[in-house]
Amino acid sequence: MLSTLQSVEWTVDSRARARRITEQFRQEFGGEPALWARAPGRVDLMGSHTDYNLGFVLTLPISKDTWIAARPREDDLVRMRSMNLSAADEFHLGQIDRADDAKWRNYIRGVPAILRQEGLALKGCDAIVHSTVPLESGLSSSAALECALATVFEALGGWRLLPQRKAQLCQRAENEFAGVNCGILDQYSACLGLDGCALLLDCRNLSTRTVHIAENIHVVICNTMSRRRLSGGEYAQRRAECEQGAAILGVKALRDLAPGDLAAGRHQLSDTVARRCEFIVAESARVELLAQALSGDDRKAVAALCAGSFAGAKDLYEIVSPAMETMMACMLGAPGVLGARQAGAGFGGCMVALVDAAQTSAFRASVIDSYSRSTQKAPEIWPVTGARGAE
Ligand code: ADP
Repeated sequence: MLSTLQSVEWTVDSRARARRITEQFRQEFGGEPALWARAPGRVDLMGSHTDYNLGFVLTLPISKDTWIAARPREDDLVRMRSMNLSAADEFHLGQIDRADDAKWRNYIRGVPAILRQEGLALKGCDAIVHSTVPLESGLSSSAALECALATVFEALGGWRLLPQRKAQLCQRAENEFAGVNCGILDQYSACLGLDGCALLLDCRNLSTRTVHIAENIHVVICNTMSRRRLSGGEYAQRRAECEQGAAILGVKALRDLAPGDLAAGRHQLSDTVARRCEFIVAESARVELLAQALSGDDRKAVAALCAGSFAGAKDLYEIVSPAMETMMACMLGAPGVLGARQAGAGFGGCMVALVDAAQTSAFRASVIDSYSRSTQKAPEIWPVTGARGAE
């Protein structure tokens, strides 16, 4: 039964995880799950907030992922339980309403609602969700959930979507149903990942290029354990400021500006909007450079590009929280670090370091020690590798 989840490397941990999920399924619904789907979280190695500006992002779909174990039903009822939230939802595919109470329900309901709008045949199911992507920490647990769920409906319905199309439909589910105005980055990462690789995504034409990271560089995610606080509308505000800058400078998106263009038009912008634009233009330009530096093991360039990205995030885009500053100091003080920066939208959550592969364990021990001493909170530190997209 478990062998349907073919690409998972069957480590002791993944077997134990599958057993726990199966056990939960039996308790919840009786009997065994009939199919399994998974989709990865992601970490951006370069390109903060560049996706909605139609720029470039270097993204790594990661080996932390969301699994769904499901069994088809004869009727159109969907019964779903998340082991992460100890929460359940139930709805009929014939009438999918938005839920006012719990946010997670709108992710669960949004995906079939959008697939249905596309005229795809949907079948009811009982399903258990389990994720190792930390929720609300900047590693895209929401996109992993959406893309794994779309994959469940794909298997149940007996049709297939191209990964790009699946990503776009899941993005629509998040925009239109969950009400989060996200760009395409997260869903593309969750659908198009390849084992061991990063992806360079052009957010305007949605083309991707595979990027190989030199073997002796490890990607290490460092969780500040401070929840992102985006409730104040900071994400929407940054987005609006970028749109305002692009409109005043007469371009469709900030993607269309070279650093020189910005210097010429800067006097037309308020100081805040000018700083936002400056960050995005420089950040997008750093993406290709970091891709080259990581494949070519150019450590000096990795350090300089990550430092530029973090300084811009702090001073120009203002998305760095005090916990992130503390974590940055701990990462930069640890053995083997080549570069470190923010991840996701910022405002807390996870950060990312590029580390000399031979020193990953020493790096990890040092960050745990120094961050715990500074904050009295033990951070979670995960070395990650590139993972396959939803399947
Ligand atoms: P992230 O960066 O993790 O995507 P978001 O705030 O955009 O952060 O989305 C996280 C939300 O997605 C959660 O609050 C929850 O509503 C939903 N979600 C993601 N994964 C799960 C899961 N495994 N079980 C239940 N809900 C989930």
